[in-house]
Amino acid sequence: MLTVKPLPAFQDNYIWVMQQDNTGNVVVVDPGEAQPVIDYLERTGAGLEAILITHHHQDHTGGLAELKKRYAPHVIGPDNPAIAGIDEAVGEGDRFRLMGRHFDVMATPGHTLDHISFLSTGTPSLLFCADTLFCGGCGRLFEGTPEQMHQALTRFAELDDDTLVFGAHEYTLSNLKFAQAAEPDNSTRDALLEECQKARELDRPTLPSTIGRERAINPFMRVDLESVQDSAAAQGDAHDALSTFTTLRAWKDRF
Ligand SMILES: [Zn+2]
Repeated sequence: MLTVKPLPAFQDNYIWVMQQDNTGNVVVVDPGEAQPVIDYLERTGAGLEAILITHHHQDHTGGLAELKKRYAPHVIGPDNPAIAGIDEAVGEGDRFRLMGRHFDVMATPGHTLDHISFLSTGTPSLLFCADTLFCGGCGRLFEGTPEQMHQALTRFAELDDDTLVFGAHEYTLSNLKFAQAAEPDNSTRDALLEECQKARELDRPTLPSTIGRERAINPFMRVDLESVQDSAAAQGDAHDALSTFTTLRAWKDRF
């Protein structure tokens, strides 16, 4: 069975590690720093087969040069010459095989223009979406437009409910507090916030989430609901799903 574990990095990043049956080589996603990965490989004796990169930000790519030098993994990432060390540049519709599974590449611009996500359909389905979709929230728009991010989340919403969602940051508590403002009446979200507060007190990750969970609690995936549109309308234009998304994203930035 494929397991996926988080390696905490920096303040609130997760580097995701995939491994088959807890033995053999691993694949890591977005190693923003090398040391947590090196420590993991030394502790477990595993090799590093491949690295997946979602976008050019330093906290997702900073460990790449050191890990390439030490372990010579195959590096798959966006078609962006600004990222040094990509062996296989991929984009929308590309497919590759790793760890005995297929991975489909989705272009998910918004947070950055080069942002891609990796979807592996299976049991369970896995979505590595980095800074596009978080538990309870979505990424900031550094380079892309609200339309682009809204479209990426709309595509994610069409995936199976039990798809595991591996965002790259532990932002859940602050996201769910914003979600309370954006959609005051949501008992599923309130129960999740309580559960996640307990997890964080024990220093446990609140990720991965699932698509079904995000569809139920994440205001950025619920912008077609009247209750979310009503909250957003008090902050700016919110006459349809996209304008509501745009207003929510700007509101979250100053929340
Ligand atoms: Zn980023």
